Parts: sequence; structure tokens; C-alpha cells
Amino acid sequence: MAEHVLALLSRPSREAPGDPGAPVYRFVDPDAAHLTVLDLGVTRGDGIFETLSVNHGRAQALEHHLSRFARSAAMLELPAPDADAWRETILAVVASLDPAREAFVKTVLTRGIEYGDRPTGWAYGAYSPSFESARTEGLAVVLLDRGYRHDVERTSPWLLAGAKTLSYAINRAAVREAVRRGADDVVFVSSDGIVLEGPTSTVVYRRGDALLSPGTGLGILDGTTQANVFRWAESLGMSTAFELTTPDLLRSADAAWLVSSVRLAAPIRAIDGEPLPVDAAFTARMNGWLAALDD
Ligand code: PLP
Repeated sequence: MAEHVLALLSRPSREAPGDPGAPVYRFVDPDAAHLTVLDLGVTRGDGIFETLSVNHGRAQALEHHLSRFARSAAMLELPAPDADAWRETILAVVASLDPAREAFVKTVLTRGIEYGDRPTGWAYGAYSPSFESARTEGLAVVLLDRGYRHDVERTSPWLLAGAKTLSYAINRAAVREAVRRGADDVVFVSSDGIVLEGPTSTVVYRRGDALLSPGTGLGILDGTTQANVFRWAESLGMSTAFELTTPDLLRSADAAWLVSSVRLAAPIRAIDGEPLPVDAAFTARMNGWLAALDD
């Protein structure tokens, strides 16, 4: 089986021109070049993406990822992704990966070639690196100011906060700043002091029998893993809720995690150098459940 696979969509959106009779996707050599230097995804980061976990041959939270993909497209005023075409392509990529290995599929939709009339879309699948140490030993995080108020999504929608755009250079820069400060990852805080999300993850924390998260509407992503973790907690009889979270609330949690597709739940073991308790057994159960998910 190939180490990685790439499928190009012939018509990623029904709103864009294209041959309706063409096959939905075609597999191409992932080591060969397929984009032009004029693609706006490359020259301006003008596009969107999703990354899905694939465990035992199943794409996880597929419908949630597809609806978030559509929402991001709408926020960027991109042509709406054709959900059926994307679903079919993602499932074909998943089917060509070894089900015994943890993998991921990344879907990308760009505005296409500058002055062109159609978006570019592809789905790339590969095997995941090991996240064992993040899942078991946990992460030291630093709180970093994102520079926007927590209501940015409502006041300034053109900033695209809450869309999963290709412009992740800032998210990568934040992680480099964390490493410079001797930490592993970041929790962004709004300029008015509200806990937001990690650069590639959602914040979840436990207080007593409640599992909590900052929730949507704060210019952050609607996390598919957080939704599943809440589903799991509810199946255990725990309560779940969204709440406006301050750094002090997070620091006083019984335990906290950064949760995301692929890495799954990574406990936060320190915030700005202050230790936070890690519940290893609870985390292992959470990750066991996430890894075994069928949908
Ligand atoms: N927030 C951001 C900024 C992300 O990039 C991600 C995932 O990459 C998440 C949250 C977590 O989302 P999910 O659980 O759907 O992977």
C-alpha cells in the first residue's frame, strides 16, 4: 500500500464551471507537481481546509467536517463545496490507506488560479506520526494574546475568525513562540481576556463532574473532537457545557486538554509554567473511545 495518496476533484463545487460528466476525482502521484504558481491558495493563502482522523479505516466526524468545510467556504465567499463529491473522494482516499494504521485526510479548497473561474480542490491522505508522548505525558502550554476581542466574529467578519482558512502562518508562529518560552503549545486568549482555542486544537476542561469548553461564537473553530468528547462524557453521566472561560477558570480546572483530530486528547500539564493536574486514566479512556469511533 502507498505511503500517501492524493485525489484531485474535477469539480469541487457545483457552482463553478466544469464537465458534469467527468469522474468526481482522479488519483494522481502525490510526489508529482499539480498546482500552478498562480493558485490563490499558494499566493494568498486564500482557501480553506479540513483535517480528518482515520482510525481502523473509518473517517471520523465526516459529516461534521463537511459542514464546517461548507461554513468556512461561506465565510470566505468561496463557491460552496459539493458535499457529495467531497464525501465520495474522502472515502476513496480512506479506502486506499492501510486500515491497521492511524491516518489522516486533509481536504483543501482554494479560490483557484488568479483571474480563473473555478476553485481548486484535493484530498490528501497519509499516515499520522506518533502522538503518544503528547497523549500520555501531556503538553506545557503558554497563554498568548490573539489580539482580537472575543466578539470579533460578530464585529469584524472580514477577519474570518472562526473559518478554517489556509492562512495558518500565524498559528505556526505562535507555536514557535511557545517553544522559545520552553513550552509545547499555545492557548490563545482574546485581547479582552477570554480563553479561545489552541492553534490547532480546542480547549476542554473538567470541573467536578462537568466537562466544559469555551464554545462557538468567539471567533474560534467549532471543534469536531470537542463535540465527540462531550458525547463521550454525556454517555458517562457527566454534564457538558460551554462557558466563557477566563485564564483563572482554566488554571483552577481539575484537568484540561487540547483536543483535535489526529492528535486527539492531549492533557495540559502546565500553563505558563504553573503545573496543572493530569488525569492519565481518564485521558486514556477518552483517547481509547475517540480512536475506536466509527463515525
Ligand atoms: N481550532 C483550530 C484553530 C484548529 O486548527 C483545530 C483543528 O485543526 C481545532 C480547533 C480542532 O478541531 P477538530 O477537533 O475538528 O480537529
